[in-house]
Amino acid sequence: MPSVFKKLYPFLKPYKLKFFWAAVSLVFTSVATLSLGQGLRVLVDLGFSNEETPEVNSTFTLDISAYTNYEKLAIAIAFLGAIGILIALGTFVRHYLVSWLGERISSDLRVEVYKHIIHMEPSYFEETSAGDIQSRILTDTTLLQTIVGSSFSIFLRNFLIFVLGIIWLFVTNPKLTSIVLVSVPLVVFPILIFGRKVRKLSKETQDKLAGIGSQVNESLFNIRTVQAFHQESYEKSKFNRFVEIAFNVSAYRILYRSFMIVIVITLVLAGISFMIWAGGIDVIEGRISSGELIAFSFYAIMVASSLGSVSEVIGELQRAAGATERLIELLQLEPKINSPINSKTIRVSSSTENPYSIKFSDVLFHYPSRPDRVTLDQLSLEIPAGKVTALVGPSGAGKSTIFDLIYRFHDPQSGSIQIGNVTIKDFSLEYLRSTLGLVPQEPNLFSGTVSENIRYGKLDASDDEVKAAAEASFSLDFINDLPSGFDSQLGENGVRLSGGQKQRLAIARAILKNPKILLLDEATSSLDSESEMFIQQALKELTKNRTTLMIAHRLSTVINADLIHVIENGKLVGSGTHDELLKANELYQKLARLQLFR
Ligand code: ATP
Repeated sequence: MPSVFKKLYPFLKPYKLKFFWAAVSLVFTSVATLSLGQGLRVLVDLGFSNEETPEVNSTFTLDISAYTNYEKLAIAIAFLGAIGILIALGTFVRHYLVSWLGERISSDLRVEVYKHIIHMEPSYFEETSAGDIQSRILTDTTLLQTIVGSSFSIFLRNFLIFVLGIIWLFVTNPKLTSIVLVSVPLVVFPILIFGRKVRKLSKETQDKLAGIGSQVNESLFNIRTVQAFHQESYEKSKFNRFVEIAFNVSAYRILYRSFMIVIVITLVLAGISFMIWAGGIDVIEGRISSGELIAFSFYAIMVASSLGSVSEVIGELQRAAGATERLIELLQLEPKINSPINSKTIRVSSSTENPYSIKFSDVLFHYPSRPDRVTLDQLSLEIPAGKVTALVGPSGAGKSTIFDLIYRFHDPQSGSIQIGNVTIKDFSLEYLRSTLGLVPQEPNLFSGTVSENIRYGKLDASDDEVKAAAEASFSLDFINDLPSGFDSQLGENGVRLSGGQKQRLAIARAILKNPKILLLDEATSSLDSESEMFIQQALKELTKNRTTLMIAHRLSTVINADLIHVIENGKLVGSGTHDELLKANELYQKLARLQLFR
């Protein structure tokens, strides 16, 4: 556990002063709570007694013999009241500061983890599920927050009360203290035994709850499929099963906990009864005052209950340590794809020059998850600057992978990729990606408004620029038909739009970004013939004097490309214009036969 705190230290450091005051108020309230026992003693001995205070070895001696019993009672009550006010004030400061620290630190950690994780390369997210990361960022930080914000202070407070209480007990009455101390292990033992089981069961409950969560997620995400196949009852019974399993584990845990509580209460009461019996005899025989016995019992109960709380929160602290480890693990991840220390940029000498050509030289690549299957096999190809180049080939040939490598979502195992004669590894990732604009196969939209989604291409674009981009992508008509135009909410991943509309927004986004190199992946696959014609016109404008690399299954969309590369099994099997390939390339002829001349 200490190593966890060491790793957490950078997050705690900025708030040192707050921690200091939280600690001060914590010690203060603990000591004040303990002094309540003294208040009780004074109250009983001085307030309720008709007789003179017996001469016993008391820690407090107040010379109030001149006062009447009523006045003595008032003094004792005032003493208790003053302590009560001090405890209340101290508790306010402690509660506020400690809870504030819990919230602040978990928020900082959340931001730090997110900041870190968003730079990880896409292959990381193929290995680690988004759900897992989400749960770490939300649940683990929340757990940490409750721990820093309450459990840890409960632990410290009770630990202090326990230690100070025991010391006080010993100083005042060693005989009675030994009775208390004998019962301590008797109480701790069942707590340890049952506590372990309860802890195991509560972890199991968390796991089962996570199961319920993923079941809800999956079925709601696929709600159309569920309803289309009319499988609501199946999903309901599946869900019910998950809930029942979680309930059964919880019920089992509650049973154990109830047993634990009963045993602890019985033992504590037995110990305290025995102590009061022994103490009572001492009072009868005049060895101690009744106030002292009351105060002693008060301390004994405090010590016993603080022990109970400590052993309970120790389990929680262990859980927090586990959660922190999981978060720290995320913070220690190093992205495999980074910007170089000294990065380069492409120099443009004149405004008419377009240096943004792309060149693949002997690129060998396999996806990290499939090391045995070569996806790009010593691929060499050139994409001339300022021209439209198309990639064609059967499904799975590796066309989208070529895009991924240009973006450096993955790095090839060998070979090099250059833009404008500079290896892309020499660019900073920010510069590289700022030169590229992508219209992906499946447009990803965010759950914001139409204009927010278009603006993703250029955050500081003016409203007019957004409108112009919408117009150029032939989106203006359907946007104006939406209930609030550009301010219409799109729903998660743009569920409120048709496939073609989503693609047009993705094109608008790319138009707004105005990149040096445009990558179009099946950009027009979901459009009807009329919109496709419009889009083709828009793209013609957009691709003018711009390096464009386009993937298209349908040859009709690439007939006019300046250059076509035919890819098969990660290799380049032919290059040329449509007419050249139609004459000379077997695979292209086959694709053309299937698609163009049906
Ligand atoms: P399509 O035209 O159907 O989109 P494509 O030519 O673009 O196909 P790619 O998506 O580049 O093909 O895929 C090439 C090969 O790599 C396929 O066999 C595919 O299964 C595999 N592949 C693609 N993405 C991954 C990934 N993230 N992890 C492992 N294998 C992958």
